[in-house]
Amino acid sequence: MENYSKIKEITKSLLQEIGEDPNREGLIKTPARVAKAWDFFSQGYKADIQEIVNDAIFDEDCSEMVVVRDIEFFSMCEHHMIPFFGRCHVGYLPNNKIIGLSKIPRIVDAFSQRLQVQERLTTQVAETLMGILDPKGVGVVMEGRHLCMQMRGVEKQNSLATTSAMLGQFRKSAETRSEFLSIIA
Ligand code: ZN
Repeated sequence: MENYSKIKEITKSLLQEIGEDPNREGLIKTPARVAKAWDFFSQGYKADIQEIVNDAIFDEDCSEMVVVRDIEFFSMCEHHMIPFFGRCHVGYLPNNKIIGLSKIPRIVDAFSQRLQVQERLTTQVAETLMGILDPKGVGVVMEGRHLCMQMRGVEKQNSLATTSAMLGQFRKSAETRSEFLSIIA
């Protein structure tokens, strides 16, 4: 990351602004650690979906619902730059094409590792799968805990935000949708 030094500088200023002494022993290496952490938190901006899925799409005569549930995700709320995290459940109805199962969490990571709102993140995962697999339908449900809500005590401490995106058959057919929802329940 070219602007590593810039993030270090900004972090040092932030420490000063909140009333800290950036030169005290415990904080000396903090700007460098923060810069490194943000490099990780923002790596989704550099992710190339084509590259991620590249050799893992297979022709398969399969029309049964495929579900990967309980995918952990960690993201950053774009309103506060504070983490939100939780679980993501992804289902799709293949249309003679399937994707390597391990690629689905990688797609979730690609969109999580940037500043987000959970609603958009959910839709992006669903639309990406729709785009690369052309399946009969896609369903994505995300359940997230938002530290910007929990730490600041604005909302209930244990509140969980649930968002969903249902495309194709998952939107049109109540039966498909309820099959998916019962699998991830
Ligand atoms: Zn927030």
